[in-house]
Amino acid sequence: MLDLNSRSQTSMHVNAAIDAALVASNLTTPPRSYLGGSRLGHVCERALQFEFVKAPKDEGADFDGRLLRIFGIGHALEDVAVAWLRAAGFDLYTRKGDRPDGEQFGFSVAGGRIRGHVDGVLAGGPTIPGMAFPALWECKTMNAKSWRETSNKGVAASKPIYAAQIAVYQAYMDATVPGVADNPALFTAINKDTAELHHELVPFNADLAQRMSDRGVRILAATDAADLLPRIAAQPDHFECRFCPWAKRCWGLPA
Ligand code: SF4
Repeated sequence: MLDLNSRSQTSMHVNAAIDAALVASNLTTPPRSYLGGSRLGHVCERALQFEFVKAPKDEGADFDGRLLRIFGIGHALEDVAVAWLRAAGFDLYTRKGDRPDGEQFGFSVAGGRIRGHVDGVLAGGPTIPGMAFPALWECKTMNAKSWRETSNKGVAASKPIYAAQIAVYQAYMDATVPGVADNPALFTAINKDTAELHHELVPFNADLAQRMSDRGVRILAATDAADLLPRIAAQPDHFECRFCPWAKRCWGLPA
């Protein structure tokens, strides 16, 4: 007899409805018209160029429902971390004017073609050795394995793309929040599996910020000149290429 109440069937139907709604909503979100400052540390400049020009992703490589759920959980947990830090006495601003409807803090350079939005700016807080204000705050959520690696090795060694993001944000935010590049940023990593928190002070790395800024300029200039930037790899089975949403497009084009 057909079991209309089987648990797996229920999950399948409800999840299908949720995922369809998430995917539909995501499709209505206008794509970025700029190069995201948070992306400048991506290992492959060609992939960044594809992203910037909004090249269609390979078939089946768009964000699916599960990935969109992961993003949603990440955003929700970041809001929880904001509440925890405020409860601990940190004067944390996440939006202009500290209003819920205020714009996110951010920057716009190169005629608006490179932009970034920061998780928050700390204007004050408890006395923590090595910490000074104002300080940039960046928060990421991770599974237990990734979190352990980050808390053991530090963000620069374990997640260079996040370290690049922090350096770029400190550099570009210093014009609107003077001093934010003089003080270490606070990087918070939330372990999604255990609720453990890793906090790390990240001093401004001017050399990294400059290299990432140069990279952004290089991507814009190559795109304006209709030049395709080089691949990161010599073979399509390279680790990065195997997970790249433009792999088919990329390897079908000249080197
Ligand atoms: S397939 Fe590889 S080389 Fe090509 S854009 Fe993606 S990561 Fe870069």
